[in-house]
Amino acid sequence: MSHIKDIADDFLSLFLPRSCLSCGAHLVRGEEVLCTGCMLDMARTDFHLRRGNMLEQAFWGRCRVEKAAAFSVYNRGSRIRKLIHMLKYSGRKDIGTMLGSFYGSVLAESGFMNDIDMIIPVPLDPARERHRGYNQSRCIAEGIASHCSLPVRTDILYRTGKSGSQTSRGRYERWENVEGLFAVHKPGEITGRHIVLVDDVITTGSTVEACVVALQSAPDTRVSVVALAAAQKLTV
Ligand SMILES: [Zn+2]
Repeated sequence: MSHIKDIADDFLSLFLPRSCLSCGAHLVRGEEVLCTGCMLDMARTDFHLRRGNMLEQAFWGRCRVEKAAAFSVYNRGSRIRKLIHMLKYSGRKDIGTMLGSFYGSVLAESGFMNDIDMIIPVPLDPARERHRGYNQSRCIAEGIASHCSLPVRTDILYRTGKSGSQTSRGRYERWENVEGLFAVHKPGEITGRHIVLVDDVITTGSTVEACVVALQSAPDTRVSVVALAAAQKLTV
């Protein structure tokens, strides 16, 4: 079956040449979205190999996160920033699946996912998801899950509908702002479990913080965090 698919892919690429979103090079079989060179060239954090890394530190004193990792660094000119922008605003959900899958293989190989029970993507505002047609964090989560056979659950964590703005300054004000933004259905299904929460990009960390607090309303629930990118300087 996969052989037939390969032939079909080769045949199609004669008429619809696929090119790397970053450098424009022609993509060969096995390459998706980015060419191998651009993929290898992407600035990696390697946070998954370091306990107490900068991303974990960003949550210290805010909420209890077991471990945290991000694939790449998010800053003004970064390649991942352009890719996440296309993922969110140009209908390119394949970017999320591909990068999620790539990072999933890195995480699985390192043992990062070994003690995890399930993957939960950060839910999108339902109106925004309808407009976009998908939740980009779910695409990333499904890419990651393809390497560790863990369930991706989208029926547990939800947005309450309370709208929070991230413009307020202080840590306490920001906390007040995000508290109650998320809640959980079926807390019994996450009790005593270790969850990986998946987001596309972590900048201030307040969305993640709000999700972690909501998930931990269930007893003994542990939460780790995985994102495609984290801002170089997290606002704490
Ligand atoms: Zn390229």
